[in-house]
Amino acid sequence: MFEPDEVADVLRRAADQGVGVVLTPATGGDDLDRCIVLADEHPGSVWAAVGVHPHEASSLDGELKGRVERALARPGVVAVGEIGLDYHYMNSPREDQLRALAWQLDLALEHDLPVVLHNRESWTDLAAELETRCGALRGVCHSFTEGPAEVAAVLGMGLLVGISGMVTFKQADNIRRMARAVDIDHLLVETDSPFLAPVPFRGRRNEPSYVPYVGARVAEEHAASATELAERSTANFRRLFRLEGGSSDRGEG
Ligand SMILES: [Zn+2]
Repeated sequence: MFEPDEVADVLRRAADQGVGVVLTPATGGDDLDRCIVLADEHPGSVWAAVGVHPHEASSLDGELKGRVERALARPGVVAVGEIGLDYHYMNSPREDQLRALAWQLDLALEHDLPVVLHNRESWTDLAAELETRCGALRGVCHSFTEGPAEVAAVLGMGLLVGISGMVTFKQADNIRRMARAVDIDHLLVETDSPFLAPVPFRGRRNEPSYVPYVGARVAEEHAASATELAERSTANFRRLFRLEGGSSDRGEG
């Protein structure tokens, strides 16, 4: 996350590139309050998702559950996230990750909020959890890296697909193939900041002002104009997180 004294500059650089709305997801107890404060301090331009990332799943005790639940009542909080499964790092045991995911998916349903979903080498288990709640659940599989079959499953469950800066990476033909499999009305473009900065910023700290580079590449894959892609993905963002108005903004998660 950005240092407090950088935030105004980060948002200004983003606005200069046409990115008028930012979603900042929490990962757990350590950054939950910061996300809420950021949304409070920048009403209408920063929105927060609160949740416990699979890396932190083992920390989800009664106290943290209470903090997450209370945060959902805040006006700037529009989603439960980032939640999901990560079997690549396995920073929390699988059972803890599954328990935290199930609790947070049910919490999102109870509060009628969308979810921001993380997945790494865990698709089969994640899909099983999603399928049992299919139909009622809204959300986005962020920074998606699975193949066209999994894209079809995500879309079939009524969820959106988030496409990150990886789509610009030279070797990432698999991500571009995946991006082409998602129709424009069911995708979001995102930073996954501070990670995955798109070409030509690859290797640097990612930030919201770079997201148009992701959008431009996705547009190219769909033979659409960058403007059209920006407008339609922004509309998807506003629809998913139930934000009002604004057509020139760009969403990112
Ligand atoms: Zn993630």
